[in-house]
Amino acid sequence: TGLHFGVDLGGTKLAIGTLTGELNTLPTPDTAEGVVEAILAGTRGANAIGICAAGRVDEGGGTLAVNLPQLGGFPLVSRLRQDGCRVLLINDADAAALAEHHLGAARGADSSLYLTVSTGIGAGLVAGGRLFRGTRGQALELGHVRCRPGPGTPAWTAFQGLSCPCGRQDCMELLCSGTAVLREGRRATRLPDASAATLAALAHAGDPRMLGVVSAAATVLGEVLADACVLLDPEVVVVGGGVVTGYGELMLAPLRSALAASLGSWSVPEVRRAGLGASAGVLGALMALEERA
Ligand code: BGC
Ligand code: ZN
Repeated sequence: TGLHFGVDLGGTKLAIGTLTGELNTLPTPDTAEGVVEAILAGTRGANAIGICAAGRVDEGGGTLAVNLPQLGGFPLVSRLRQDGCRVLLINDADAAALAEHHLGAARGADSSLYLTVSTGIGAGLVAGGRLFRGTRGQALELGHVRCRPGPGTPAWTAFQGLSCPCGRQDCMELLCSGTAVLREGRRATRLPDASAATLAALAHAGDPRMLGVVSAAATVLGEVLADACVLLDPEVVVVGGGVVTGYGELMLAPLRSALAASLGSWSVPEVRRAGLGASAGVLGALMALEERA
């Protein structure tokens, strides 16, 4: 009870909101202290703060790893916990998975696998109404599943010389995240300074170079999703994140084809577009507060 805030701490944006109020969005500050100040300023009077963040979350210790280098190992939760205010930290994709399952595109489904394609790639699974977090809060980190594209393919070429800050090799988000689509799109169009929006506009105008980049990324995503479906058998798959907002069906169509092709004779779950947009993380962080109250 009392005043609850949800916070979505992303690689590029920080969003803060309540269940009924509007969403306040600002660029993610580039120091840990800046992040603490911004959250404290945006959550005055809070009784509880649910924070979802891009990265593996150590729920017990309240710290993060990956994707937000300024916060690596930083004791975010204890820094924000002030008298009587409860603070909960979960993964951003886990939060969005929870929100999409109960309020968004997967409403009514028995189980749903959520995939976000944003600065990085994240995922979450809800089954039997509950989020599956794993023992250490790092389950469903699909962006860091290894993928081995065939030599000579566009994905293979793109992979050369890249390494993931998580310390694993051949992580699939190096090939299919928003960061990867921006990098490969700039390379393919020879527009080294093009923005994500410019590249998306080119793709929507039918630029074959951008269509190639987007479908190469979507194909790898579909193949990794197929493996996830073989492991987890979700009723529906929900795909969200900034890249899906930007490219829409240009990304979802090749993703669906790759998923079906890769699943062979297995049954193929329905792939739905996320329904809650930019507020999914904040809503999910609020729901996580309830789930754990
Ligand atoms: C992180 C995930 C996160 C995803 C989306 C990945 O790089 O490892 O934890 O969910 O990006 O933000
Ligand atoms: Zn990785």
